Amino acid sequence: MLNGSKKFVTCAPICDLALVFATVDPSLGKWGVTAFLVERSSDGFSTGPVKDKMGLRTVPFGEIFFENCFVPEANRLGPEGAGFSFSHNSLEYDRCFNLASELGTMERQLEKTIAYAKSREQYGQPIGKFQSVSNRVADMKLRLETARLLLYKVAWLKEREQPAMLEAALLKLYLSECFVASGLDSVRIHGGNGYLTEYEIERDLRDAIGGVIYAGTSDIQRNIIARSLGL
Ligand SMILES: Cc1cc2nc3c(=O)[nH]c(=O)nc-3n(C[C@H](O)[C@H](O)[C@H](O)COP(=O)(O)OP(=O)(O)OC[C@H]3O[C@@H](n4cnc5c(N)ncnc54)[C@H](O)[C@@H]3O)c2cc1C
Repeated sequence: MLNGSKKFVTCAPICDLALVFATVDPSLGKWGVTAFLVERSSDGFSTGPVKDKMGLRTVPFGEIFFENCFVPEANRLGPEGAGFSFSHNSLEYDRCFNLASELGTMERQLEKTIAYAKSREQYGQPIGKFQSVSNRVADMKLRLETARLLLYKVAWLKEREQPAMLEAALLKLYLSECFVASGLDSVRIHGGNGYLTEYEIERDLRDAIGGVIYAGTSDIQRNIIARSLGL
């Protein structure tokens, strides 16, 4: 019988099925967490309205509520208390797949920014000839290529079904923060046009900020990295 609620759930307002982690006994800590698949049609399951957010606006998200929501044993994933190890393992994939789409956006963003820096002229020359602008483009390229290596390393490890908690945390922290930094550089290079919604340059920056929060904030990734290093 599930009781409680969960905020900030991606696709909650439109989901048919929810993967729920709930505890059977809070005193057991992480070993009390069990995973369930809960169908929207279950009695006691409801969702709140779509919440407006800063970015990622094409993906609705909101809250899920459980009020004496009965879940049959057949919908329990694995044994009681196995939820933590499931989430631990699936977060490694989550951090890799989610961030892969950000890497693709960073690549497109760089191409668009270079094209703009070549075509926009000020003081008789393309703005890309000013070192202040070209340095930003160089930094964007460096972030893209270094983040790509971390992403490929996690994908390589998971393809071989190897643990990648440290590598996934390094990737999540680094790539999401790079996406924010490059998003801001791209807006700066586009000048006033970068601030206009019609260019969709500001949109990437707004979307990027979600990335330093979901699937564990940057602070949490630093905690995981430090713990993996024995601190
Ligand atoms: C776009 C988006 C999509 C999301 N999708 C989902 C989803 O599908 N499913 C889901 O379950 N959740 C989802 N979330 C929720 C997301 O995982 C949480 O918002 C996030 O983990 C932070 O938790 P919080 O909001 O409670 O912030 P808090 O935990 O209150 O954190 C606030 C601040 O305190 C810091 N902080 C907290 N604890 C520590 C600590 N131990 N050490 C150092 N710093 C700390 C944080 O880093 C942050 O800066 C989504 C969030 C966003 C923005």
